[in-house]
Amino acid sequence: MANSSLQVDVAIIGGGGAGIPAAIEVARAGGKALVLEQASECGGTAAISGGGCCIVGTPLQKSQGIEDTPDIAFEDWVKWGGGAADEVWARYYLEHTLHDLYHWAESCGARWVDMKSQEGNRVLRWHRPDNNGLGLMTAFIKTAESLPSITIMTSASAERLLTQDGRVCGVAAKRNNETFDIRSKTVIVATGGFNSNLNMVLEHRPEFRKFKVMEGSGFGAKGEGHKMVKELGGYLTHMEDIWFYVYATPDYRDPRQRRGLVFRMVPGYIWFNQQGKRFHNESLTGGASASPALLAQNPPHAWAIADTPMLSKIDVADPYYRRGEVIDRAKVQELLDNSPYIKKADTLEELGKKTGVEDLKNFLAEIEAYNKCIEAGLEKEPKFGKSLKQSKKFDSPPYYAIQIFPLARKNFGGVKTDLHCRVLNKYFEPIPGLYAAGEVSGMAGGHINGKAGLEGTMLGPSIFSGRVAGAWAAHEAGFGPGFVGKPNRPELA
Ligand SMILES: Cc1cc2nc3c(=O)[nH]c(=O)nc-3n(C[C@H](O)[C@H](O)[C@H](O)COP(=O)(O)OP(=O)(O)OC[C@H]3O[C@@H](n4cnc5c(N)ncnc54)[C@H](O)[C@@H]3O)c2cc1C
Repeated sequence: MANSSLQVDVAIIGGGGAGIPAAIEVARAGGKALVLEQASECGGTAAISGGGCCIVGTPLQKSQGIEDTPDIAFEDWVKWGGGAADEVWARYYLEHTLHDLYHWAESCGARWVDMKSQEGNRVLRWHRPDNNGLGLMTAFIKTAESLPSITIMTSASAERLLTQDGRVCGVAAKRNNETFDIRSKTVIVATGGFNSNLNMVLEHRPEFRKFKVMEGSGFGAKGEGHKMVKELGGYLTHMEDIWFYVYATPDYRDPRQRRGLVFRMVPGYIWFNQQGKRFHNESLTGGASASPALLAQNPPHAWAIADTPMLSKIDVADPYYRRGEVIDRAKVQELLDNSPYIKKADTLEELGKKTGVEDLKNFLAEIEAYNKCIEAGLEKEPKFGKSLKQSKKFDSPPYYAIQIFPLARKNFGGVKTDLHCRVLNKYFEPIPGLYAAGEVSGMAGGHINGKAGLEGTMLGPSIFSGRVAGAWAAHEAGFGPGFVGKPNRPELA
């Protein structure tokens, strides 16, 4: 294939949460789409994600008596975004979530199963699909594979955008060390974020250079699309708005010692700083309150303390710790037993000593006080108001202390686009032939969330903007009317 060239209508770089829906739109508009995916299979970060999407006015909400409208959700969204959300894109997304995300995903074979409460939302609107992000992406990928005008090329990396007479006209790519060109009428960049490129994270957040922070997105989220777009004069915005999570421990198997592992499903755990003091309500783990709390500690790391039963359901968000849909408990135990960032002991005193906390007496006293709250049947512990509903006493050794550090997870900024997902230059004019969708464009438009996200506001807008980009890129290539969709405007019904 060396130096050969392929011809399609729309070339799409990245086969993840935005790229696959984009390809489906191109095909349904009548165009030929080619998806270039650097990994050996499609799915991207979306396939390892929790799959949660912020969706408004759904049958699932109604079945639980929840009244929700785009107006209410928009208020929550803008408030939570700290004045930095792109209100036009936020409104556009929220109005389209019911028909163009919820029902559209169902039409691809996905199933929405339940909802979870998330900080900043007045009502439950974080919707989880069956089998999380993997379930959702499997449905989209199967749909794409069923459409003959979509070609998916895996293990193929885009290296550069091609231009002719001021228009983007294709992609220079590489597969098995062979280079080739794809000629297309339009190109969609859907390469995801840059949080698996620590150098790029630190470039945009230099204040973190003095701390240990970890890479925490999917393996392909290295910011390659950002670079390609920037080379052509695309405008990047809000790049410093990176969503950090803190319930993550270093991946001791990573030879570069840069990746972190997010772990969930340990609701009873409590966190101590290096001084041996609790500092936060551990049930609030989102990026809005937990990350600032951890970063305010000196040094900015903590120890998550749990006993053995509390860890029985622990889920480590990394493909190594799963066998398909099932958590590989033996591998999770291997992590608990072998990571130098995890201490294990038969008594809490011995555990405290192993962590090296400065005030061991206080460490033990706080755990005892917490145990007493549970014995007394309190609903919340008094120090930070943590709900004790899912907690138990620390009484079943061995005990564990998992060292946690901030982890860069989601990019709230990126390539600026208009509502057709056309990439804009510094004059806010479209670069002819070039589109961007998903996390490379700060999930949608450049900065749809702002400083903080209501959760489910990464994957949802990535899928939606992928659809929008696909429809308009197909339109510019001569196929279909562009994105139409069906807004949910109950006040006009
Ligand atoms: C563990 C985890 C859990 C998450 N859970 C949630 C959640 O529950 N809800 C939520 O809203 N968000 C969640 N997110 C965020 C969400 O998954 C992402 O924002 C979303 O997947 C972004 O979609 P995307 O298509 O832009 O990127 P991706 O899904 O990452 O897809 C990008 C694709 O582009 C490919 N690519 C990159 N560069 C190139 C290149 N040069 N050539 C060819 N291919 C390339 C990558 O390999 C990748 O497959 C989570 C993130 C993580 C890491």
